[in-house]
Amino acid sequence: MQGELNFYYGPMGCGKTRELLKILHSKKEDGFYVGLLKPKVDKKGEDHIVSRDNNRYKVDFLVDKEDNIYMEVCKYLIDNNLDFLLVDEAQFLSTKQVDELSDIVDILNITVICYGLKADFKGELFEGSKRLIEISDNLIEIERQCSCGRKKIYNMRLENNIPVFDGNQIMIDGVEATYEAKCRNCYKKLKKKYNK
Ligand SMILES: [Zn+2]
Repeated sequence: MQGELNFYYGPMGCGKTRELLKILHSKKEDGFYVGLLKPKVDKKGEDHIVSRDNNRYKVDFLVDKEDNIYMEVCKYLIDNNLDFLLVDEAQFLSTKQVDELSDIVDILNITVICYGLKADFKGELFEGSKRLIEISDNLIEIERQCSCGRKKIYNMRLENNIPVFDGNQIMIDGVEATYEAKCRNCYKKLKKKYNK
């Protein structure tokens, strides 16, 4: 079997983590060795992936911006087996780290399946997502419908329940924000209404 680099992307709340856990369970049931990875910038759950119904899965790799993922996996392979590596919140990886994931596929023949958002609250690509779109073997979109029936595109940011359209791509610590996915049309209407 040839390893592959796959990227599942979709809007906020589309069930990416549920997809990841589904693959985790089914591959384990089939007798494969599965590893979990997530970037440290995603603070929620710390070193665990947490499902909607609050089950917690400890990650094997919690990576910082500067960490070399290929080297981390090589070290891990001294004492462990690995057939699949599942990556949560992959949008937060650097370009270099996505290239390292591709080396894990091409040199070590391990299939890497990434899950993440395509674009931020302004509709601009995240660094990790951009690289994954450029070099993945397969791109799989998880589509969700906006309340108006169109496809959700934007991950609108809310502060104190008010939509905001300016700010940093990643929120600084201490500032609370929530996100709500919207279609392009609804996003534009809300932007007109709130962004004065
Ligand atoms: Zn809409």
